[in-house]
Amino acid sequence: MDTLPPNLTINGSRLWQSLMEMAQIGATPKGGVCRIALTDLDKQGRDLFVRWCREAGCTITIDRIGNIFARRAGRDDSLAPVLTGSHLDTQPTGGKFDGVYGVLAGLEVIRSLNDLNYETDAPVEVAVWTNEEGTRFAPSMVASGVFAGEFDLDYGLSRADLDGKTMGEELARIGYAGDAPVGGRPLTAYFEAHIEQGPILEAEGKTIGVVTDAQGQRWYEITLTGQEAHAGPTPMERRKDALLGAARVVEAVNRIGLKHQPGACATVGLMQIHPNSRNVIPGRVFFTVDFRHPDDAVLAAMDAELRAEVARIAADTKLESELEQIFYYAPVRFEESCVAAVRRGVERTGHSARDMVSGAGHDACYVAKVTPTAMVFIPCVDGISHNEIEHTTPEWAAAGCEVLLHAVLEKASVSAGSSR
Ligand SMILES: [Zn+2]
Repeated sequence: MDTLPPNLTINGSRLWQSLMEMAQIGATPKGGVCRIALTDLDKQGRDLFVRWCREAGCTITIDRIGNIFARRAGRDDSLAPVLTGSHLDTQPTGGKFDGVYGVLAGLEVIRSLNDLNYETDAPVEVAVWTNEEGTRFAPSMVASGVFAGEFDLDYGLSRADLDGKTMGEELARIGYAGDAPVGGRPLTAYFEAHIEQGPILEAEGKTIGVVTDAQGQRWYEITLTGQEAHAGPTPMERRKDALLGAARVVEAVNRIGLKHQPGACATVGLMQIHPNSRNVIPGRVFFTVDFRHPDDAVLAAMDAELRAEVARIAADTKLESELEQIFYYAPVRFEESCVAAVRRGVERTGHSARDMVSGAGHDACYVAKVTPTAMVFIPCVDGISHNEIEHTTPEWAAAGCEVLLHAVLEKASVSAGSSR
């Protein structure tokens, strides 16, 4: 690669303006965005992105699950591209930045390269992954999952919403059922810029999160069964109170989370009490457990502890217990040379930074299975995300984009290892 131009930077106000313009599509009265996957609003957001990319000289490819790739040619266009991007779909009460920041930061990288008249060795592509949020079609990140070979294409296209409309039908309806094969082509690297969605960067006064890992997850469904009985005539020692058992499991889950610090998260987020009547001893309680940790061995230890605690508590409280792990997601360690490229981007731009583990799932977690990958986090105000008040600042947005530019340029250079 040529030596880097001295004025290597991005246009922060143009990036911010584009974020604000995109946020008008699906804007909510409280200042958020509702642009749910494969709705008319999602189509409008995609159309705007595609128009901006064409104006920036990119060619557009859409694959069979609706992922969009905007490509800026390289000096040697046969080299495997460096990919960056994220998602444009939002939660129903979502914000202006989750996902869309990574997409438009990628576009800003391309616009800046155009301004600088800078030709990369390898092509650079910006990806928009379909249905990242999983709010309309479960599971989340399904299209990057198909791209990475985690799911079959037919599985992805047949995901249906509550009205029975499938992703395949809805892609065709909005004009984004492309004909390119999904994945299976060589890539040099993938970088995803994203808001942190947590409070750490802001609290520590750091601008950039160098994401080294993403947490593994284990989700459980637990049912404790005792016996419904009248709250008055049933003596305490004769009760089989399913809610008492559940309460003790909630305590145990919290204890397991606290025991495996740093890094563990342990949550009971949903509980259904049967029959849920004020003068009936609860006969059955259904609840969920969500465990997260970046180390698979620790996650396995948490799993063993949960099973032992549930068995012990059920015996103590004279309850039947059923425990099922319904979801397992292995921890992801992002690739060393890509993480290093982000680190060098931080050094060259002079922004403050710290290493981070992503607590949320991202498209990057799947893409990491098929190409070297890393992520760049920027702070979000008060750590709030998946909320209409989700906010970041123009300065943070620009900083993350500068770091992204440096990381992309390093990987798009033949000397630093872009490949055929
Ligand atoms: Zn996201």
